[in-house]
Amino acid sequence: MAKYDQILICPSCGARDLNLLDYASLLVLKPHVGLFTIQCPSCQAKVTSIQAIPQELDGTIDQAAQMLDAGMGRDLSR
Ligand SMILES: [Zn+2]
Repeated sequence: MAKYDQILICPSCGARDLNLLDYASLLVLKPHVGLFTIQCPSCQAKVTSIQAIPQELDGTIDQAAQMLDAGMGRDLSR
């Protein structure tokens, strides 16, 4: 079940079912904020938007960052 704060509106066709969890790509800008690229399921437009990263994705992103050794998801205070 998608939550309201995970839904974007497509600027091209006005569809209201762009789910952040279905992102095509995600660039983490800072903790809990990312640049999401989502393909609209209605008109296939690529929608790019800076959004808070849903809690559901936190673990996934940390894992991906560690696998890529991208310098994200590390505890920098150590
Ligand atoms: Zn659309």
